[in-house]
Amino acid sequence: MKVANLTYEAVRIPHQRPIYPSWFPEKEEKDQCILLIGIHTDEGISGYASMEAPFGILPILVATMEYAKEFVIGEDPFAIEKIIWKLRNVARISTRPWVIENALLDVMGKACNQPVYKILGAMRDRVKLYASWAEKRPDEQRKEDAKRLVEQGFKAVKVRFCSATMKEDIAQVEAVRAAVGGQLEIMVDANQGTAVERQQKGFPELWSYERAKQTARELENLNCTWLEEPLYRYNFEGLAKLSSEVSIPIAGGEINRGIAEFKWLLEQHCFRIIQPNCTMSEGITQIRKIAAMAEAQGVTCNPHAWIPGIGLLQSLHLAASICNCDYLEYPYDPPALLPGSFQGILVNELTVEADGYLTLPAAPGFGYTLDEEKIHKYSILKG
Ligand SMILES: [Mg+2]
Repeated sequence: MKVANLTYEAVRIPHQRPIYPSWFPEKEEKDQCILLIGIHTDEGISGYASMEAPFGILPILVATMEYAKEFVIGEDPFAIEKIIWKLRNVARISTRPWVIENALLDVMGKACNQPVYKILGAMRDRVKLYASWAEKRPDEQRKEDAKRLVEQGFKAVKVRFCSATMKEDIAQVEAVRAAVGGQLEIMVDANQGTAVERQQKGFPELWSYERAKQTARELENLNCTWLEEPLYRYNFEGLAKLSSEVSIPIAGGEINRGIAEFKWLLEQHCFRIIQPNCTMSEGITQIRKIAAMAEAQGVTCNPHAWIPGIGLLQSLHLAASICNCDYLEYPYDPPALLPGSFQGILVNELTVEADGYLTLPAAPGFGYTLDEEKIHKYSILKG
């Protein structure tokens, strides 16, 4: 079997109401832009994967995919390591092409008539979800939001910190804790990894080491599960010091790139939980290598799953094949962020089950059906 073609299509699906992500100050996200990648073989099997393409970066991704064609077309879709080795040439002068690997895995699954996670080596058939909020909202509203999550079956929620003061930040967690007690585990994401952009926008100053440490201490008292990205992503020294000085697990790595960078993060003991993204950090098989390095150190690997379209499924299959994974992110913040737009190109959107888990689909590949009608309706670019 050979790869006969690589295609891409961008779709923009409107959100029910605009989203104001806590990590992009002053930005309003009116729609979900999804880049769908297709790998088509000479034997008639097509595999797909998708990634996020927000805020005008689409032309860069399109150029990357066009350039990647010459490295992928004509290859055996099972030759993943060889193709990735070639794609590293694309990444050298363009942006991240790793989503292509995931589409190849979908082809492999379909060719073998097996779900992707079973080909990788299944650890589990179900993964526990945490609802990942996007916005900062008034504490009273968040109490109601948290109660609704409990009713829906969620066992955990991730709260965003982006206030000017630590007191305001902590008040959010206190509100959620007061509303649901121990019914939800609470994670906190400070999103300090993207610090440079935040400073340019006049957003509150990047956290100092002392603020990160004090926040961690407060969250320990509130029995929180982890603190994510409390410092800039290349502040390896600060992250390692913080990890050694507090008992709450420090998590991060969603924007870090490449196996070598994660090796460094692990060697410096920056995190007790690493969160590589299977379209931004590396593709699925390469992240399994990172997970293996983490496993050897007793570090958890909970993939970052803010990847729209098929992206949540890509992360789900990855999570199900990693032994040192205990939670998967589920982007969800009604009434703004809903599966209808975030996963909008799928016929059957994935939703939490009554006990807070998500069961892996039994169908071959990633196990989805594309909503052709919706893709056609919201398509903005095709190649
Ligand atoms: Mg995060």
